[in-house]
Amino acid sequence: MSATLTVLGSSGSYPGPGRACSSYLVTVEGYRLLLDCGNGALTNLPCDPADLDAVLLSHLHPDHCADVYGLHIALRHGPSAPARVDVHAPAGAGERLGGLLDAEGREGFLEHLRFHEAAAGQRLALGPLSVTLFPAAHPLETLASRLELHGRPLLSYTGDSGPCEALVACGEGTGLLVGDATWPESARPVPADLHCTGGDLGRVAARAGARRLLVTHVQPAYDPAEVAADAAAAYDGQILVAHDRMEIAL
Ligand SMILES: [Zn+2]
Ligand SMILES: [Zn+2]
Repeated sequence: MSATLTVLGSSGSYPGPGRACSSYLVTVEGYRLLLDCGNGALTNLPCDPADLDAVLLSHLHPDHCADVYGLHIALRHGPSAPARVDVHAPAGAGERLGGLLDAEGREGFLEHLRFHEAAAGQRLALGPLSVTLFPAAHPLETLASRLELHGRPLLSYTGDSGPCEALVACGEGTGLLVGDATWPESARPVPADLHCTGGDLGRVAARAGARRLLVTHVQPAYDPAEVAADAAAAYDGQILVAHDRMEIAL
C-alpha cells in the first residue's frame, strides 16, 4: 500500500515567496495525518480539509500552527460542514489557540478541532500509524515524532529543535528524517537549543542512521542548497531539499 509525504509548507520561521510555513501531509493506506499546520499550509492542501483524519502539532509557534484557524472555518462552514478532526498537541493548545477568538468563535473552534493532550514519551495509534513522541530542544514544549507503519520506521519529524540526543533516538533507522535545518553554517554563531544548522542536522541523520534526509524549515533569507551542502558534509545518505507541494514516496 502506498505511503506518501506531501510538503505543504517548507519555509522556516516565517513564509517566503512561494513558500508556506511548516506543514507535512502523510498519506498512508488512505489515512491522512497532517504534521503541523503553519501559515499558508492550507494553500497547498491537496484534499478537502474535512478529509483529514488527524492533525499532530509539534508546538505552538505560529509558523507551525497558524492555519488551524482556517482549518476550523473549513470544517465549520466548508462544503463538508459540519466536520471535525482530532488534533494532538502539547498541553493547553486548545485553550491557548482558542484564546485569540471571541467566546462564540472559541466554542466552535473547540467543537470542530478536537484537541487531545500529547506529550513526549507517548505512543499514539493514529490509523495504521504508530507515532512515538520525543522531547525536542526548543524554547517551549515541542514534540518530535517517529512514525512507524506495521513496525517499519517510515518517517521521523524533528519539529523545531536544536541538535540533541532525543532527535537521534527519534530518527533511528528511519526511512526519511524530516528535519529542521533553519540556518547554513555561515550563519553561525546561532542560539543554542532553538534550531539546527545544516551541519547539525546532517550529524543527527548520520548518528541516527536515517536512510534519507529531507532538509526543510530553512529561513527565507538563506539558500536551501547551501544548507543541504552543509548537511552533506556530515551525512552521506540521500539528501532531499524540501519545496512546497513536493511529494515523496515513503
Ligand atoms: Zn518553526
Ligand atoms: Zn518553533
